[in-house]
Amino acid sequence: MKPVRVSRTVRLKVRPEANPGKQAALEATWTLWDRAVAFYLGFFLAHLGILAEIPKSLELLTWAETHTVSTPDHPTPLPGWDIEQSVPGVPVVFRRAAINSTIGAVRSYASNLKRWEAADPKRGQAPKPPRQKPHPTFYTGLYRVDMADFQQGFLRLKLFDGRRWQWFNLPVSAPPYAADLFAASAAEKERIRQIRQEQNERMRAEGRKKRTKEEKEALRPRGWVAQSPVLVHKPDGFWLHVPFEKWVFVAGKADEQRTQNPSLRVGTIDLNADSAVAAAWEGKQCMGVKTVWHTRENAKREKALQKVTRKQWRSGKPVKGEHSNRLLWSYIRNLDGTVAWQVAATIVAWAMAAGLSVLVFEYLRPYRPGRGLSWSRQTNRKRAYWLRGQVLRHVRDLALREGILVVERNPAWTSQVCPRCSRLGERFSPNGRGYPSRFRCGPCGWTGDANVVAAFNLKKKWDRSFRYPTQEERKAAELRRARKGGAAAQPKGLPRTG
Ligand SMILES: [Zn+2]
Repeated sequence: MKPVRVSRTVRLKVRPEANPGKQAALEATWTLWDRAVAFYLGFFLAHLGILAEIPKSLELLTWAETHTVSTPDHPTPLPGWDIEQSVPGVPVVFRRAAINSTIGAVRSYASNLKRWEAADPKRGQAPKPPRQKPHPTFYTGLYRVDMADFQQGFLRLKLFDGRRWQWFNLPVSAPPYAADLFAASAAEKERIRQIRQEQNERMRAEGRKKRTKEEKEALRPRGWVAQSPVLVHKPDGFWLHVPFEKWVFVAGKADEQRTQNPSLRVGTIDLNADSAVAAAWEGKQCMGVKTVWHTRENAKREKALQKVTRKQWRSGKPVKGEHSNRLLWSYIRNLDGTVAWQVAATIVAWAMAAGLSVLVFEYLRPYRPGRGLSWSRQTNRKRAYWLRGQVLRHVRDLALREGILVVERNPAWTSQVCPRCSRLGERFSPNGRGYPSRFRCGPCGWTGDANVVAAFNLKKKWDRSFRYPTQEERKAAELRRARKGGAAAQPKGLPRTG
């Protein structure tokens, strides 16, 4: 089993009703961070040579501290680089966060610069010095999540009020699942603390200093554990972004799992413009098919787009530099965002319930605009295609958190060949007109839902048993199609509204 670290971010908004003192403290802390980071950015840029001498970031941090902070061991910082004189009142953890946030950026700048200097004289412009990271990280000791407080909508943060550092109870609005996530995180932290304690006792008894590989492995969080929050300044106010991390265990690369385990459970999923069709498999056996429709949302989007057209037409030429129909567009964006998450979450929940290890998708091909369509229909179709990419990205994210891998396969011919005999079939509509939702195989007589055909064939692509149609079969099919001039010529994935 291979351990993989996965993460997610919970965004908490500092509520605007936070009293002026709290808002001022947030601003002051923000400014202090800005100055501390600017100080260390300047410091490292003035001592670029040291980066090559000290490759380890932790040692570089110590080096930076001994030369900028007055301590009993190193009473005099480098001339001009005393942080206490330049930016007074930065607490230790905040200072370290500032140094750490600078080190990475300066390191990459230094290596870019070196490469540029070594390049031939016709080299391009010199690399730009790094910009400072605008978002302060609140390491342990600067924030506290008390569950009782949090349920009331508060989070404790140590802030600089302009004179000194003190604790503030900030009102935050959180997504509904945040409280459970923080509670689970506290429980997991406690579990790991106990394991660490047991390990320490065992190590003492056995007289060892180092943990074994298994012991280190046991310390990895299996459930979500909250990391240091980041204070983000947005146009609508302050936000706290709290990253959560955990480790999942994956039984090797997808293809390795396939060759090693003949009864591996996989899902094959065909994303359409208005639905996702998923088939679950155990070895060669199909365990079931699930379809997630979003036809209604598709129709809603098209309606909104028609409204955009009408308004545009009535108000004449759009004003340059001004985004017209702001509300409508934001409605459409929200609609798309919600649909993408809902479809992805449904697929992953289904995959978990079926105990799947791998999900197989098609490579998504770029959108090809159709001819003779109205602007709203064209745009709707384009957005529906784009939505498939969103769904795939979300599924990849959500699935990995559960240790499920996502792979993509070439979609060529998957919707055209018969899932039973692999010869070319055709789509048709049951009542002879409208959207061709059924599939029929002339040679063997198989008939079924056109949407599941691709999901079934995708399984063959995954098994490497897919049979491509021969040249003669392709020609024969083309002739048939030309004679009928009908539904079979429709490319797959068109919205049903039509
Ligand atoms: Zn057939």
